[in-house]
Amino acid sequence: MKWSTCLVTVWCVGIGGAGAVEPTADRAPLRLLRCPTSDGSVLESWQVASRTTLLTLLQIDDLAVGSPCDAAGRRAMPLHERTIDTRVRDEFTWHVVEIDARPDRRITVNVTIPRDARAGTCPAVICIHGHGGHRDVVYDETTVYHGFALPLARRGCVTLSTDVGQHDVQDAQRTLMGERLWDLMRVVDLAVMREEVDPRRIGCAGLSLGGEMAMWLGALDPRIAATVSSGFLTTMENMRVGHCMCWDFPGLQRRYEFADIYSLIAPRALQCQNGQQERLPGGFPVELAEQAMSEIRAAYCALGAEDAVELSIHPGGHEFDVAAALRFFDARLAK
Ligand SMILES: [Zn+2]
Repeated sequence: MKWSTCLVTVWCVGIGGAGAVEPTADRAPLRLLRCPTSDGSVLESWQVASRTTLLTLLQIDDLAVGSPCDAAGRRAMPLHERTIDTRVRDEFTWHVVEIDARPDRRITVNVTIPRDARAGTCPAVICIHGHGGHRDVVYDETTVYHGFALPLARRGCVTLSTDVGQHDVQDAQRTLMGERLWDLMRVVDLAVMREEVDPRRIGCAGLSLGGEMAMWLGALDPRIAATVSSGFLTTMENMRVGHCMCWDFPGLQRRYEFADIYSLIAPRALQCQNGQQERLPGGFPVELAEQAMSEIRAAYCALGAEDAVELSIHPGGHEFDVAAALRFFDARLAK
């Protein structure tokens, strides 16, 4: 496809077609808005158009456009933050706070603040759980998450986690994925507002559904400087068999593959993790991850950022590789 043709397709299918809600049965995996990878400037234009398209398909464009972030990454929509619990631990203080995700929706967020943190000096990481989990489980070393948020909290990061495992939409005008993603974008809003946080050094990480949400957050929130997506990189064809279908929403499969969504993160840092013991059906095997990563890597190469992306393969199964993530964040969120 010539680039001029590609851009016409982006505008006609991406913007004009995004407003129409398509019935599930009529969707076809056409991938009409595949990421163009031969030219950096065309890819950047595709990224801008695709973020607009996806926010519309997710049905959170009114929130994102209606309350945009200023140059410092701060959003005008008030958080109305209220602390409901505080516990002092050895290396950090643990807060449980409530914020407005929307004026009519409150969410609860865990926030850890390093002891002796000084203003503007701390990186922050949004830590995201998967199916059947909750906001506390990313701090639990006995689970498949191996408590990955704990060493981040202990080594001087502000960590934040909220609940994204719901399968009911509170606001009927949102998609489920849109409501989950908007909640996470509001957690980023909270991170930016914390005086300890350096807003240029905010990352996100998650496993399984959390790896999926990390993909979406990195793709659609440019304030995220580094993303770890564990146990999720695969193809939509695989996700149609043996998986909870909560990943889907009208209009997605017609336009994109997961590799395209990950390509929206470029040139910002991205680590995907997949375990060698992952199996089909229902898993996220390395072979499919490598297939998807070859496409993502092409996008990073088009932007001259091939060093910013990696597929980290570990010997385990559907679990978080803490050591690989710490190595990644130490390098990517350093001052
Ligand atoms: Zn689900």
